[in-house]
Amino acid sequence: MKVAKFGGSSMSNEEQFRKVKSIILSDPKREVIVVSALGKRTNEDDKVTDLLYLIHAYLQHDVDWTPLWKRICDRFIQVRDLLELTFPIEKELSAIQTRLQNEKVSQDYLVSRGEYLTAQLMAEYLHYTFVDAKEVIFFDYEGEIDYEKTTQAVRSFYEQQTTLVVPGFYGANPFGKEKLLGRGGSDITGAVLAKALNAESYENWTDVSGIMMADPRIIDSPKVIEEISFRELREMAYMGANVLHEAAVFPVQEADIPIQIKNTNEPEAKGTRISNHEVEKENGLTGIAGRKDFLSITLFKRHMSDEIGFIWKAMSIFANYGISIEHIPSGIDNIGVVVSAEAIADKLFLITKELKEKLGVEEIEIIDELALISVVGGPHKELIGLSGKVLSILNQLGIRTSILSQGAQELNLIIGVANDQYETVVKGIYEGMVTAHVSETSDGITSNS
Ligand code: ASP
Repeated sequence: MKVAKFGGSSMSNEEQFRKVKSIILSDPKREVIVVSALGKRTNEDDKVTDLLYLIHAYLQHDVDWTPLWKRICDRFIQVRDLLELTFPIEKELSAIQTRLQNEKVSQDYLVSRGEYLTAQLMAEYLHYTFVDAKEVIFFDYEGEIDYEKTTQAVRSFYEQQTTLVVPGFYGANPFGKEKLLGRGGSDITGAVLAKALNAESYENWTDVSGIMMADPRIIDSPKVIEEISFRELREMAYMGANVLHEAAVFPVQEADIPIQIKNTNEPEAKGTRISNHEVEKENGLTGIAGRKDFLSITLFKRHMSDEIGFIWKAMSIFANYGISIEHIPSGIDNIGVVVSAEAIADKLFLITKELKEKLGVEEIEIIDELALISVVGGPHKELIGLSGKVLSILNQLGIRTSILSQGAQELNLIIGVANDQYETVVKGIYEGMVTAHVSETSDGITSNS
């Protein structure tokens, strides 16, 4: 069986519901369906989840929330009517409204109603059974998913009825009350259910045809990565390529269940398959990701390399200020510490002072407005050629890199350039390695020429 999760844009109106139904019915293995709340119909539109968060804020400040509530009600009623369903949505909506008027409802209860109602409508439309997430997704006292309890509950529903619709984004806390999984959390619901049912695959249906090799805001229609390993995905996601909630990866990766990213608006497109399998890539390149606004702090001290524990002591100073370290390029008697500029902003002076006073650091060089670009490669042997190609592209572009390092697992190459050169470098690497490669091979010239 497969677990299929449909995001908010796949559930935004009656037309999207129709597409989702035909996708589900085209593969009888798509038995357990997870849905997000009605999403944006156009760029200017609002997600039901966002409106519900707003209503909760309005309630706290005693602002009239009824116009927002009416917008939500109208959207659900419209979908129900256009699909000619019989679900008594007005009754459900008025029960929620009564609670809002008479009680201090929790944010988690209120916001989760988006998924709850969307799943009710989808269940009727598919003739599948609705299962409240509160009955199948359980949290423990630490706020973590209680897998034992969850697995037992999911399996017992599935034994009685295999075709189920479950609202994403929430579950039950140990007191049986709604608890949210955090923004974008329906991805996690799908992954948890796939693991609990030991699904053959976890399909994640969204509005893009997979994970792209580079940011589409920089590269015009970048190629989609058809196969990516969980490890490569982690590299891409950490550096900013976001398609899937990061926490959705762990449950399925552990259970060795592949994730298939698919586009509801283009179901024939292959999408991206994410699995434990490392596939050799054409030209050695999986993708390029990156982020701006880092700061590099390089510490110089004579004979630093002979001093046991120096790096540890330096890192503890950053840790004591709650600064997460992104990267540590090092030389013989110097180490660089790359951190988020925003995170360190008002602590920079105190940290450098401590480094000098406590560790005897002699010189500190700071480079700000730094962007990090991660060039993610396939399996190890592919990467050998990759580094050489990237370096020659940087050379051709005449770009000076302040950081250049290869990950310990040799899966990626990290390049530090000035913020304002970020787009040029991403473009240069993509064009040099992907676009040029495609045109060369189509001309019949070998790809490595
Ligand atoms: N509807 C929720 C959100 O917008 C959860 C989800 O879509 O995954 O964050």
